[in-house]
Amino acid sequence: MEMKIFMRFPGNCPKAFTLSYDDGVEQDLRFIEICNKYGLKCTFNLNAGLYAPEGTVYPEGRVHRRMTRSQCIEAYKGHEVATHGYTHPWPAQLSTANVCYEIVKDRETLENDFGYIVNGHAYPYGNYNDAVVECLRDCGIVYARTTKPTERFDIPTDWLRLHPTCHHNHHRVFELCDKFVDMKNEQPQLFYLWGHTYEFEGDNNWERFIEIAEKISGKEDTWYATNIEIYNYVEAYRALVFSSDMKKIYNPTALTVYFTVNGKPMSIAPGQNVNL
Ligand SMILES: [Zn+2]
Repeated sequence: MEMKIFMRFPGNCPKAFTLSYDDGVEQDLRFIEICNKYGLKCTFNLNAGLYAPEGTVYPEGRVHRRMTRSQCIEAYKGHEVATHGYTHPWPAQLSTANVCYEIVKDRETLENDFGYIVNGHAYPYGNYNDAVVECLRDCGIVYARTTKPTERFDIPTDWLRLHPTCHHNHHRVFELCDKFVDMKNEQPQLFYLWGHTYEFEGDNNWERFIEIAEKISGKEDTWYATNIEIYNYVEAYRALVFSSDMKKIYNPTALTVYFTVNGKPMSIAPGQNVNL
């Protein structure tokens, strides 16, 4: 009998939802409150070289207000921080050495500040070329988000050119939310939403994010995770070893991996062998 095997996310969820927001600004605090209320997880892409000096007071009306180092360390607990270049450069215009410096210096500073491995990235201005991508790979970055909307929910294959589903201001965002929630595909699906939280203040449309959260949250078939959790999990699934007749599976990773076999949910523990 032919076997159809499809990845499932943790808990045998067929879908995952993730968020990616840039620049480490004060509006992230309100955004995190909403995320925490609805059980959503976000990755925040920070420029450690541009932390605001402690005690910064911004002039009235300023929308782009970066947080201080201590504010950032407090704010992002329970979510992921990732690199966004040490000083938010245009990467494709820099020398290779300078791109490496921007990445490694940001990584090192964030790792020291937050106490964990920081190996994700969002391209400043969505700007990159093939040389920048290779540089990121050499600097230990495992995924890097662009700003190009796919309007789709496919599981990424080229993690260093990780195109999001859409921006929160995309004209189809609510339609895409409804489509995602209603989907009943065998194939796993990922909804990847990005933006800047200062845009909600500048555009006066915080209710837009609340509507998205209301539509997407609280679904039993959806895993709400940070970018790196999704990357690590998908790569663990891809690392499963199958026998030539597909009847034996070995999990060489440190994660429990979920999948369906002809529609039947199964899982395989770290280091375990399973006979189908
Ligand atoms: Zn940015």
